[in-house]
Amino acid sequence: STQRSPAELDASKLRITLAQELKPIPPSNDVHFGQNITDHMAFASYDPIEGWSAPEIKPYGPLTLYPASSCFQYATSAFEGMKAYIGPDGEPRLFRPAKNLARFLRSASRLSLPLFAPDELLNIMKTLLRVERRWIPDQRGHSLYLRPMIIGTRHNSALLWIMCSPIGQYPSIGARPLSLLAVNDAVRAWPGGTGEYKISGNYGPTIGPMQVAHQQGYDQCLWLLGDRVTEAGVMNIFVVLKRDDDSVDLLTPSLDGTILPGITRESVLDLAAAHPSRTVLPGLSKSLHIYAGERDITMGGLQTWLAEECLLEVLVVGTAVVIQPVGRIGYKGVDLILPVYDGGLGPVGKALHQRITDIQYGVFEWDGWS
Ligand code: PMP
Repeated sequence: STQRSPAELDASKLRITLAQELKPIPPSNDVHFGQNITDHMAFASYDPIEGWSAPEIKPYGPLTLYPASSCFQYATSAFEGMKAYIGPDGEPRLFRPAKNLARFLRSASRLSLPLFAPDELLNIMKTLLRVERRWIPDQRGHSLYLRPMIIGTRHNSALLWIMCSPIGQYPSIGARPLSLLAVNDAVRAWPGGTGEYKISGNYGPTIGPMQVAHQQGYDQCLWLLGDRVTEAGVMNIFVVLKRDDDSVDLLTPSLDGTILPGITRESVLDLAAAHPSRTVLPGLSKSLHIYAGERDITMGGLQTWLAEECLLEVLVVGTAVVIQPVGRIGYKGVDLILPVYDGGLGPVGKALHQRITDIQYGVFEWDGWS
């Protein structure tokens, strides 16, 4: 008998089944991820003999799974988080989606889940966005959050889907400086571990420490490895340091395996490096040189920079918040009080926030990022 090889994920086989009844769309300043899932989801299943099923767009609804599915036993589950925005032309846009889908593939691969061509998934996602067009808020600051997921089921089979949820401006966001509780008793990720993958097993164990931080009056955890800063909550971290000649360093920890390689992080590094030679960031002087790069950041280092008055800004960055300032870090019972600025963000954070959101909403074109 001739053996057929398992089918690849193929966007051209997409079948669309529309929901009979559509949900009312909630006002977008009152929506939070997970509360309001849209009418439809993209879906495909995999089994080791047949390969990928023809992908579908179908009404959002429950899954039926065997209790023995490996996702439950062994957390064979990976996901992504990205957003769709409406541009000035009224068309939906995605921000560097190939980056998210490449990361999605790496996460799936780390869990030995079936692989797929990210471009095929991107095409499926684009069709889903056209179907769900009415759900994408067109106010600045609002967007449609997209959550691709892949899970292991039984006997090396898997399910993959993309669900969507409109989100408004986070109530706290933009301006308000965040407070972080630095923790090193609970460790999010460690050398040789899986911190650099967006897999579900990295997230469940962080809920407890985050609750402790909330109880103590902090917004998020600052994840340490010993004295070394890795990330904050589900965000990457940056510091802005003043140099003697009034240029600045914009530093973030290097991707040593304990850090999720954020798309926002990479975008911040790229945009800062382009200032002022390729583009001048909004509000910043052409003569300001930003040395953007990767460097270890320790709690001791933060204390020293603060004492020497060269620490200008501490920023957290990610898809959810874009860029938000940090105003306070609790460490060993003492609060480090960080510089504050009128309006929240300091000049570098503000410039980067403006530029990135302008690119996301299609107001500023940059290297095909949107
Ligand atoms: N760190 C962690 C642990 C995250 O889950 C996220 C969100 N994906 C980020 C950082 C920020 O990454 P991104 O900029 O791609 O959203």
